[in-house]
Amino acid sequence: MNAFELYNPTKLIFGADKVKQLGELVKPYGTRILLVYGGGSIKKSGLYDDVLFRLNEIGATVHELPGIEPNPRLTTVNKGIDICRTENIEFVLAVGGGSVLDAAKAIAAGAKHGGDVWDFTIHRATIQDALPIGTVLTLAATGSEMNGNAVISNWETKQKRGMGSKLIYPKFSILDPKLTYTVPVDQTVNGIVDIMSHVFEQYFSLTTDIPLQERFAESILLTVIENGEKAIADGTDYDARANLLLAGTYALNGTLPTGVTTDWATHGIEHEVSAIYDIAHGAGLAILFPNWMKHVYKERVGKFVQYALRVWHVDPQGKNDEEIALEGIEATRAYFTRIGAPATLRELGINDEHLDRMAEEATQFGPIGSFKQLTKDDVVSILTASL
Ligand code: NAP
Ligand code: FE
Repeated sequence: MNAFELYNPTKLIFGADKVKQLGELVKPYGTRILLVYGGGSIKKSGLYDDVLFRLNEIGATVHELPGIEPNPRLTTVNKGIDICRTENIEFVLAVGGGSVLDAAKAIAAGAKHGGDVWDFTIHRATIQDALPIGTVLTLAATGSEMNGNAVISNWETKQKRGMGSKLIYPKFSILDPKLTYTVPVDQTVNGIVDIMSHVFEQYFSLTTDIPLQERFAESILLTVIENGEKAIADGTDYDARANLLLAGTYALNGTLPTGVTTDWATHGIEHEVSAIYDIAHGAGLAILFPNWMKHVYKERVGKFVQYALRVWHVDPQGKNDEEIALEGIEATRAYFTRIGAPATLRELGINDEHLDRMAEEATQFGPIGSFKQLTKDDVVSILTASL
């Protein structure tokens, strides 16, 4: 096991109708609030009115930044930074899915930064200070509610990049499974794939003798596989939505990588696809991950055998290790297909035109990943297999 440090300051408030605590949670940080939200789902569901009611209770002055895009854009983040500066905002409240949360984090860091917020994503500057943020999450997927990461897109340069700091962990996140009842099936599916992919990135590791971390990861996968299908069948199944929501948080809140060398190559490749084609993150991952698995499994077949046996309950009778490993990978693809996720880039209208550019960008700082270090040629192979 590797040496590690674990830090997670986010207070999680989980359960039905917990938005009623919003006022008391925000109040210690001030009353000049920037409310950040997306394209209107929170207005349709009534959550917007509820949030404003709670903020009025504490006499807050609320400025709004609506219209955060899925794959949030730098231009929109900059609008939020301007509001923070001109209105002396004290607290940034994100209400929505991962895109809204990530935009709020970038705004909070950018508001305290003299230069361009994009600098944080290209390692030209590190986050030194940030406004405090809080979140009300409406979609099980990214884990952004309990981590210090934010991913934003620069539409002009066609780049999608992440920033990270302990200063942008939410002070609190409210997770009410009922707020995810209105998530449409396709977004529910994208969320399921994203959660499973976060686990894969941390589970397929060359680090050995980590039974606790492996079983944590496998239990999240099994929970998502079971409850994902239930949530798709009945969007208002409270327990299914609750289990999915909590699984999403634990998949990326720092628990799984303790003591483990993680990979993250597939996320890196997906970001390049999203940067050019603006596809949903989960859809891109559903296409790419089984192809990444096929490309790398020979590096440590035993890990893929364990995955096949423990997660997909593959019958090992009469099969060699390679056959078992491949059956686990096929089971992954079959599950994604069964829940309605895409399997090829062509299904999303993507051809081979920009494959070389995407591979070049993904590996611009050198090989990516750790389970197998991927060169540009490896990335081209995975993308080609994904067509
Ligand atoms: P999202 O992009 O935040 O939202 C997708 C869609 O779902 C939006 O159209 C949104 O509509 C809708 N939606 C959200 N909640 C809803 C609800 N309760 N009812 C109905 N519709 C709802 O999706 P996401 O998967 O959570 O976030 C994806 C982004 O996060 C990507 O940019 C990805 O790269 C990034 N990401 C971040 C991390 C991290 O650690 N920070 C990790 C993985 C991925 P409205 O806009 O109308 O609200
Ligand atoms: Fe992700």
